[in-house]
Amino acid sequence: MTSKPVAAAVRRERAVRAAVEQGLLGQDQPVVGLLDVAGIRAAAAELRAAFEEIVAPGTPVLHAFAVKAAALVPVLRLLADEGLGCEVASPGELALARAAGVGPERIVLDSPAKTTAELREALGLGIAVNADNPQELDRLGELLQPQAGPPGPLGLRVNPQVGGGSIGALSTATATSKFGVALQDEGAREWVVRAFAERPWLTRLHAHVGSQGCPLELMAAGVRATYELAEEINETVGRQQIDTLDIGGGLPVNFGSDGITPSYREYAQLLLATVPGLFDGRYGLVTEFGRSLLAKAGLVLARVEYAKSAGGRPIAVTHAGAQLATRTVFDPESWPLRVETYDAEGRPKTAGPDGPVAQDIAGPCCFAGDLVAQNRPLPELAAGDLVGLLDTGAYYFSHHFAYNSLPRPGVYGFTAGGGDEVRFATVREPQTVEEIVTESGAAHATSLAEL
Ligand SMILES: *Cc1c(COP(=O)(O)O)cnc(C)c1O
Repeated sequence: MTSKPVAAAVRRERAVRAAVEQGLLGQDQPVVGLLDVAGIRAAAAELRAAFEEIVAPGTPVLHAFAVKAAALVPVLRLLADEGLGCEVASPGELALARAAGVGPERIVLDSPAKTTAELREALGLGIAVNADNPQELDRLGELLQPQAGPPGPLGLRVNPQVGGGSIGALSTATATSKFGVALQDEGAREWVVRAFAERPWLTRLHAHVGSQGCPLELMAAGVRATYELAEEINETVGRQQIDTLDIGGGLPVNFGSDGITPSYREYAQLLLATVPGLFDGRYGLVTEFGRSLLAKAGLVLARVEYAKSAGGRPIAVTHAGAQLATRTVFDPESWPLRVETYDAEGRPKTAGPDGPVAQDIAGPCCFAGDLVAQNRPLPELAAGDLVGLLDTGAYYFSHHFAYNSLPRPGVYGFTAGGGDEVRFATVREPQTVEEIVTESGAAHATSLAEL
């Protein structure tokens, strides 16, 4: 069901106007990212409430935010303030979680290519680790021996092979997915049961079926298969060795309107109906949602530098293209974005007497396909107007594509509470040209010519 869509849209509108008034967007900053703090808090509260409703009293539940969805320290800190932890998949993401002050008991490390050094660091910190494959499990076992303090909870990722969703690149439970131990492969299930029996320190199973594009039923089927495996293992070893299931993330986001569909509640209720035994108090739970916590709270706001036309097609040339909306530009069918139009003062534009005009919304990158929307009917844009790319709070800000050496834009959080006041806080400074030059080898300027 939809949840406060009007309020979120009103907050967004006020924030856009205030961003212009307060000079966040200007001649030298033609594109910014904005995050709605109230929207993020509301999503976190809905997630907590949805699972509180279905678990037995006293069940330990950790909602670990998938850091890759918004790798921004203040965002991780805000979510920690809402009781969430972090799911990390690289040394960089782990460092961000720690910089946000997230404690080791609230961090989960998953990744398909952890090095020995990463595993050693994770064990030393006492964070939870999910091994991806038999070789990594062996490595973990070897590292455990000289380990002084007790490690954090250790688990194994499995691929229940329940199938894919509508976006192949984000479907992690296909027959040949690179993630986890493929459960339905010949002999794999027996191997997993034995692996647990031989390793009493292994106490968790992990599965993440996929992200955007996966139906809830498919995700629930993956959780069910993982639960059944946990039951089989515990029965085989004769004790509750697996005490926690990490069910991953993947709740899809509605990119078509302000409605929050599906909701955490819908998914939690489906899980309860599909896997009732998982919630009877015998198992702790870890979730790893990313996109659904942040997407709807974010907006990219960019200036239209020029409005032109080609072959009869009006084109608004803006400062938001593939460097920010990489997936949308390269795979527009899978990642369509809503585009909102504003005038130079940040007021919503309305269509003229002849109605909306089909336009291309182009970005600043030097390749023809750099379009975030094609032939989209919108109020006719003019130079100096603004466009808003909606629902971009997850993945868009932290997956910058350095094409044309375009800088990462600044990201600002806002509150648009009672009264007219909109307050902004810096989440990330805009990248400067000097930083780009430094990162591009300026210190080694003569190294090749002198070799
Ligand atoms: C990406 C990822 C997530 C988060 O997925 P969302 O679709 O953003 O909720 C969770 N767990 C793992 C292992 C992932 O790779």
